[in-house]
Parts: sequence; structure tokens; C-alpha cells
Amino acid sequence: TFDIEHIDTEILKKLEDEGHKIFPSPRVLEKIQDKLVQNQILEKNGLPLPKFREVEDPSQLLESLQNFNYPVVQKARTGGYDGKGVVILKNENDLQNAIKAESLLEECIEIEKELAVNIAQNSKGEIKVHQVVEMTFDEKTNICDLVIGPAQISKEHEDKAIQIAKDVLKALGEGAYGNFAIEMFLTKDGEILVNEVAPRPHNSGHYTIEACITSQFEQHIRAITGLPLGSTKLHSPTVMKNLLGPENYTGPVKFEESEELLKIEGLSVHLYGKDLSKPFRKLGHITILDKDIESALKKAEEAKNIIEKYSKQ
Ligand code: ADP
Repeated sequence: TFDIEHIDTEILKKLEDEGHKIFPSPRVLEKIQDKLVQNQILEKNGLPLPKFREVEDPSQLLESLQNFNYPVVQKARTGGYDGKGVVILKNENDLQNAIKAESLLEECIEIEKELAVNIAQNSKGEIKVHQVVEMTFDEKTNICDLVIGPAQISKEHEDKAIQIAKDVLKALGEGAYGNFAIEMFLTKDGEILVNEVAPRPHNSGHYTIEACITSQFEQHIRAITGLPLGSTKLHSPTVMKNLLGPENYTGPVKFEESEELLKIEGLSVHLYGKDLSKPFRKLGHITILDKDIESALKKAEEAKNIIEKYSKQ
């Protein structure tokens, strides 16, 4: 299996042809790696998406923009992550910031909430879904800031999001075994649209380590080895917050353990052991279990302030 989607599927397909089992199948990965192909496959299977269009050649961006009004979202077809490879073009002046590589355009959605569904399938066709969560993003960097579960949405939207996640998995076809995160937009008009698919454990599911009977990581291993999938039941509502490298600092990671932090009830700290801090690099995350989401959000803010105090550069 793999932990990142930007890898060479030709080599993986060769290994598969030689009899190695690779899940999710490289043939599934191929459908996801290129955001244009991904959108085309999902659209063909009837899934709701933002309107999109291929930019056939970077020099023809202006022509491609014809059926769109500003603002418009331009996405690199391959290689993007954490908002890198996505630009919002607000007007003609922004064209100088346009992506020069192969890209696609999407209508800019008026987003009410960004949602994610972690869904797993094993080789026997068994499917289990973790709760729908909502993600908030840092406006400047486009990096996920908080994950809130359960998402504060209506039962109707929750059911719809889960059905869409199941339909996406079906659209990916044979060999879609493992944990998949399906990112979605709940629009201001109350529609749910698919944004993108991650064929692996995902930042939106880190909270499952503490908050669920089976974490997304265990679920992934169960799924790719054909074991029965575990229960996705929730122990407690939860908030996860990413710990990012400070904006104006590149150098060794400085993080001091603090009793003050660990005194926050329901809080767990995960540090990834990276040596080097870079602006906005993901260095760890915290998870807070609390039956009251508002209280969990307050604790996340409190934790962030303590962490900033103790990791002064
Ligand atoms: P990445 O692969 O880097 O995660 P995404 O396609 O998820 O890229 O885009 C990053 C962010 O950009 C999204 O989380 C969302 O906030 C914003 N975004 C992406 N597509 C659209 C869209 N069509 N309309 C409005 N905002 C969008």
C-alpha cells in the first residue's frame, strides 16, 4: 500500500502484473492522481461536482475561462497537496499567478462547510464508514486547521454525504480496497459536491485514533489484508487541530512538553518527530475528546496558545 498518491503507477502496475498485491490498486490510483481524470470519472458516474473544464494548453487559459465568471479556481492536474497547486483567480490581474502546468478550471463554490467522509472497503466488498466530519482551513495557506466530528450539519446532509462517499467508492471500480477520504463541499445552497478523493488514511481521520473503536489506520490495514472491518463507532465528539511550523521560522523543531498542556482534559498530543520546522509544515496534531463541541473548540484554542508560548523561537 502507499501513504501518498504522488507515486509512479507504471512501476506499481508492473509489480501487480508480477503477482504482487497492491491495494488500493494502482489502476484505482491512476483514476485519482490526475484531478481532471478524477472529475471526469466521477461525473460519468453521476456524482455531483463543481462545474469544471480542462485547460488544454497553459497559453489558452484565457480561452478556457470563457464559460466561467470570476472568481474561478485553477487546479494543477497532478502533484497538488495541502492547497499547493490550487489558485483562486479573482480577476484578470490574477492571471499572472496562474498555474503554468497542465491544469483544469472549476467554478468557485460558495462554501458553507467543507466535509470529509472516511470510508473503507475490503477485498470481500465489505464497506464501513466513519462519521461525517467538517474541516476548517487556514485562509492564507489553505491547510486544514481543525477537524470537527461529528460535523454540525443536518441528518439529511449527513446521510447524503455518506451516500455520495459510497457512490464514489463504486465509481473507482475494482481494487478500491483500503481507507479513502472523500472531501466534499456543502454549498451555501445546501447542495453537497465532491471536491476530491484521497486513497489512503487522511488528515480528516486522525481523530479516529482516540475517538473511535477502530482508527482509520487500523481500518486501512484490515481493509487491504482482507480482514473484517472494525467498528467505526464514536467514543466521544472530538476536535483535531494540526500543529504547523511557525510562519517566519525554518530550523530545528522546538516543542517543549508542558504540564499546562497535558492538564487540558481529554487532550492528546501527537508529534511526528520531524527534525526540521518550515513555515506551515505539519509537525503534529492534537485531539480533544469532549462531549460538548464548543468546549472542545475552546480547549483547542487554549492548547494552541500554550504551544505557541512554549515553542518560542
Ligand atoms: P488539495 O489537493 O491541495 O487539498 P483541493 O482541491 O482540496 O486541493 O483544494 C484546496 C482548497 O481550495 C479546498 O479545501 C477549498 O478550500 C478550496 N477549493 C478547492 N476547489 C474549490 C472550488 N471549486 N470552489 C471553491 N473553493 C475551492
